[in-house]
Amino acid sequence: MTRLFGGGCPCCEQRGLPRSGESVGSRRGFFAAAVGVAAAVVAPPALAQGAIQAGGAPRVLRVRRQVVGDSFSGVYWRDGRYDRDALRQLDMVFRDLSAAELTPMDPRLFDVMSTVARTLDSDETYEVVSGYRTPETNARNAGRSRRVSTVSLHMSGMAADCRLPGRQGLGLARVASELQLGGVGLYTRDGFVHLDCGPVRRW
Ligand SMILES: [Zn+2]
Repeated sequence: MTRLFGGGCPCCEQRGLPRSGESVGSRRGFFAAAVGVAAAVVAPPALAQGAIQAGGAPRVLRVRRQVVGDSFSGVYWRDGRYDRDALRQLDMVFRDLSAAELTPMDPRLFDVMSTVARTLDSDETYEVVSGYRTPETNARNAGRSRRVSTVSLHMSGMAADCRLPGRQGLGLARVASELQLGGVGLYTRDGFVHLDCGPVRRW
């Protein structure tokens, strides 16, 4: 039986990815620059068409930040547009807690998380273990653990480590992986799943 997860790649590993001309981190800065949020509001390139609701129904996300308890629950996309106010609230929930900094998160990450929860038919609230990481925070984590990549999509606001209550990590990771919306990493020992809106891959 093919082993789907646990291949030993570190979190957010980008080794082997094509170096496209468009840097994923190019517009990310410190604190939510209004200009960055505005850029995010423009419809993003489609992820896996079809998996993410095309048009129609509003997109909902329920997230709660572990430790501090900040949360968001509601519609963040409707009528073909991301809701700026919702994105701002989500940026806050996904902020770097240790550095007390936030960044405009890539809203496609919210599409990934929303689609995974919907596919699982879950109304539960995601527990977000880690969202945005400043380069300093990431370097510190990488220094502590070899499982944290030094080039992390967390630094680009494109990744989250999370849990979905009532769902095993393996089940969550498997469904997320089948949807092929981005990167999926299963961290059984740590009890969370890494989801991102980068290239499709799993570990
Ligand atoms: Zn991660």
